[in-house]
Amino acid sequence: MFLPICLIRSYSICTTSQPLGPEPALGVYRRDLQMRLGRWLVNQHGAQWRGLCDTQRQAHEFISGPSLGTRAKFMTFNRTQSRAVTGLLTGRNTLRRHLYLLGLLDSPLCRKCGVEEETPAHILCECEALASLRHAYLGSFFLEPEDIRSLGLGGHLEL
Ligand SMILES: [Zn+2]
Repeated sequence: MFLPICLIRSYSICTTSQPLGPEPALGVYRRDLQMRLGRWLVNQHGAQWRGLCDTQRQAHEFISGPSLGTRAKFMTFNRTQSRAVTGLLTGRNTLRRHLYLLGLLDSPLCRKCGVEEETPAHILCECEALASLRHAYLGSFFLEPEDIRSLGLGGHLEL
């Protein structure tokens, strides 16, 4: 969506000033333009989310999609909380599987149970060594990815 610069300036009904830019001039309200651009951005974000490739599998597993409420809640987090939430939900963190894929560790196995690969899904849903903590903070010994999605952003920060 490209708009010529002459359309982007504020336009008032009572204005007596001459329009700037190439003729013919078309009056566009700044607020209307901002709303349209905002809607366009939300649609583009949704389209990109739906078109994510397989490399963002873990993010799709735990995040239902773009949401204004989720964004507002995320903006209340400090840097440490933001990093923890983003890392856990996307798999880009210091969990062993990720470090193993980067070639920084020799084994991707969980440091708590040592049975399965240490992934966000394993830590948040399946690890038996973390079952009591999961029950204390999230209300259940074992969870499904849908349960994590329904917790909302930051619900798993306690774990
Ligand atoms: Zn484990």
